[in-house]
Amino acid sequence: MAMQSTDRPAVALISLGCPKNLVDSEVMLGLLNRAGFPIVQDVADADVAIVNTCAFIEPAQEEAVDALLDLAEMKAEGSLRAIVCTGCLPQRYGPQLHTELPEIDIFVQIGAETSIVEAVEAAAKGQQRFLEGSGNYGLTCDLPRWRSDPQWLSYIRIADGCDHRCSFCTIPAIRGPYQSRRPQDIVSEYRRLVDEGVQELVLIAQDTTAYGHDLPGDVDLTGLLKALGSVEFDGWLRLMYAYPARVDARLLQAMADMPAMVPYLEVPLQHVSQPILKAMRRPGDAESYLQMLAMARQFMPALAVRTTFLLGFPGETDRDFELLLDFVAEACFDRVSAFAFSPEEGTPAAEMPGQVSVREALDRMEELMRVQETISLERNRALVGREIQVLVESELPDEQIWLARSWRDAPEVDCQVKVEVVAGAPLPRIGRFAQVRITGAETHDLQAQLIHL
Ligand code: SF4
Repeated sequence: MAMQSTDRPAVALISLGCPKNLVDSEVMLGLLNRAGFPIVQDVADADVAIVNTCAFIEPAQEEAVDALLDLAEMKAEGSLRAIVCTGCLPQRYGPQLHTELPEIDIFVQIGAETSIVEAVEAAAKGQQRFLEGSGNYGLTCDLPRWRSDPQWLSYIRIADGCDHRCSFCTIPAIRGPYQSRRPQDIVSEYRRLVDEGVQELVLIAQDTTAYGHDLPGDVDLTGLLKALGSVEFDGWLRLMYAYPARVDARLLQAMADMPAMVPYLEVPLQHVSQPILKAMRRPGDAESYLQMLAMARQFMPALAVRTTFLLGFPGETDRDFELLLDFVAEACFDRVSAFAFSPEEGTPAAEMPGQVSVREALDRMEELMRVQETISLERNRALVGREIQVLVESELPDEQIWLARSWRDAPEVDCQVKVEVVAGAPLPRIGRFAQVRITGAETHDLQAQLIHL
């Protein structure tokens, strides 16, 4: 058990899932820190451990339960006093979790995160509780944030929930309807993070392009970007999670007009065959998506595009898959992620006829990624010889190589630029920008030489 100089128990938090969860984790740690709880990185140094869980697909649930059971073992051995479970798992399964996971002291649903101090105090006293969510997403810039490393990068969550009803997705049932934060509140947080010296800010939500539609007045993402543009910022601003039907000329113009906005578009398409998209309850088709991509590239010629596809959706035929392969060959994405369909309990897609075997879905996924690898390599090769700006993030010890990201690389999900420094040249600074010349290309990563800092 950790020995602390304060009477408050030391707390460690394990944040699972996406950056949206990470923002909630940072706010919970900020509240605990303000209340005087020592925050420790390592669970071995903690008295109380929190797991902020993700549960939107089965593998994420398994990861969450495994993390909780590891902590339960530590508790049984006496090296941990109590365990708190927050986020999507308690939201999805409710108070029955007390029966299924009796080792966990406190469960905190989504919308009750601001009660984390009360939860940890109760857990440390050996109480068992289930804190129900209010249904309101309470994140505001007045709440303190304990920012996790790296310090040069921060996510800004502009909304929670989702009003779409994609037939395979559990997120609307878990996170509830779309709830935008007030624009002034987001601008204040943005300004504060810029003042703190953050080099890259990433706007996130389940669907960033739906921003504002639930607020009174004429509020939307384009207006928000214009308001953010009034804050002077020399770093990078990145927009994630755009919904294809909402990427229009107005939004693209606003992105192109904003000096801090990197030409990067993450737009999960999931599929392009119309019958499959219809069954997924998603709009569009291959042609409309190609038009959208062409328009986006007109507004931002250096645009890097990332997308996600779901393979093996019920009813997906060889013909549907071929259509998707042809589309990928034509669309020239910079980055693609592919997932095999998993029938999630409670979703319409789980009950649909024509379920595709896991083997078939995985085979299609691999074939699609093979097609994309050739395209990725071509797009990388086209950059050889060019001078670009990168954000340096780490150093490979003993190799004189620094790992960096370009505008084409979102944190966590994309690739790297490996920067070589000639002997005697000034060394890159971690967390700072540098100018490099691209000297080589691999399927995913790029090699470069430092030009100047
Ligand atoms: S838009 Fe995204 S979060 Fe919303 S229902 Fe569809 S897949 Fe789920």
